[in-house]
Amino acid sequence: MEFLPVFFDIKGQPCTVIGGGDVAARKVAMLLHSGGKVTVVAPQLCAALKGQADKGVITYVQAHFSAEHLNHAVIAIAATNDRAVNQHVSEIAKAQRLPVNVVDDPEFCSFIMPSVIDRSPVIVAVSTGGASPVLARLLRARLETLIPASYGRLAVLAQKFRSQVKQHFTESGQRRIFWEKVFQGPIAEMVFAGREEQAISALEQAITAEAADTRPQGEVYLVGGGPGNPDLLTFRALRLMQQADVIVYDNLVTPQVLEMTRRDADRIFVGKQRANHAMRQEEINALLVKLAKEGKRVLRLKGGDPFIFGRGGEEIETLSANHIPFQVVPGITAASGVASYAGIPLTHRDYAQACVFVTGHLKDGTMDLDWDMLARPNQTVVIYMGLLGLPVLCQQLIAHGLTPATPAAIVQQGTTPSQRVVTGTLESLPQLATDAQLKPPTLIIVGKVVSLQSKLAWFKPDQKSEGNFALTRSS
Ligand code: SAH
Repeated sequence: MEFLPVFFDIKGQPCTVIGGGDVAARKVAMLLHSGGKVTVVAPQLCAALKGQADKGVITYVQAHFSAEHLNHAVIAIAATNDRAVNQHVSEIAKAQRLPVNVVDDPEFCSFIMPSVIDRSPVIVAVSTGGASPVLARLLRARLETLIPASYGRLAVLAQKFRSQVKQHFTESGQRRIFWEKVFQGPIAEMVFAGREEQAISALEQAITAEAADTRPQGEVYLVGGGPGNPDLLTFRALRLMQQADVIVYDNLVTPQVLEMTRRDADRIFVGKQRANHAMRQEEINALLVKLAKEGKRVLRLKGGDPFIFGRGGEEIETLSANHIPFQVVPGITAASGVASYAGIPLTHRDYAQACVFVTGHLKDGTMDLDWDMLARPNQTVVIYMGLLGLPVLCQQLIAHGLTPATPAAIVQQGTTPSQRVVTGTLESLPQLATDAQLKPPTLIIVGKVVSLQSKLAWFKPDQKSEGNFALTRSS
């Protein structure tokens, strides 16, 4: 190792920053964040630092640097745009054995500043030893996605219980196993979901239960997997996907999204075919309850958002009735994801001030919809599950007052490499869709905003890769 990584306690300690520009301001922010008492030495200050000086958050010494500015400081940072001044600061500091950092100039540094992921009290610091700050920042960005924003609260909880756990489990090996379970299980999830009190009582129980070796309680995560492209998963979805013991998914979930789940998790397919449900809704509800009662962390993975035409509400009603803890993770719903990837803004100042989502599911050959409401001007109508009913849909919208020339689009497997967009009008779209032989799932968008598609389309996947994302569903 080129450097010794350490965390330095500067709370209440004098820290001196030489330089008054934006770079200095960033370092000052870091020092303040760590509790340092900051003095800035510079002939003039940028607006941000001036604001802080005026408020008394920092002390400002309006001067060119000279050696006495470092008296009493426990740490010095040189951030001027004059290399000679920076070098001078470095030499004086080093002569006094004062830790000194010169921004972007490792040669003059006695310590370097890492890229930081702050989940206080948990801090992750990344350094490339000055070789490439950009690389460190990229790595930091990756780690940011892996560590939940509320990770620090988990550490605070662990600290509260540290001595109690130590008393209970006298062997360090036992303690390690106990904490690993806590940090990777439902208690941690309670903390991340902001249910600290529940986490505390669960942890208290776990300490005694663990001694008596009782079975842990299971939990269900109702997770929106987005419209199909794994890039569109949320951090939270991804994290839970990599943790769950069992994945219960349906056929709107693409193989690429499923691929992101934990390798050794059990996977149960409960997909629904039209008129031929692989598993009835009540059976799915009962399955979730059964698995959770076995103590499993169950991930109920659904396409799009679980609360939008996803029957997610019904599933968690059953869980709630059975007192099974659950969490809901929103996903990007098809309307939002597919419209973005097709280049169709759902609202637009000039064309649509409202947007309505409806299901176009056919019942006895018709759709039970409020046609007068849907045929209003200046709005966008997004129809889920509408491929089979497309001709009925277009006819009805025209019959209720929309002009036959109203722009309309149907999008196949939006956001995936198999995405195809067919645009036309209410009059022409049914035939165009038949000719295009679209594969499910498909989403229909009706309204003037569709006319922008030819200009705004940006996602143009290479259709050779088609098939990879094919779903089994007919919709
Ligand atoms: N909960 C889901 C919707 C379930 S209903 C969500 O929020 O998106 C299933 C319907 O969603 C499909 O029939 C289709 O109309 C639409 N859909 C889902 N993913 C889609 C995709 N990638 N491309 C086009 N339509 C999609």
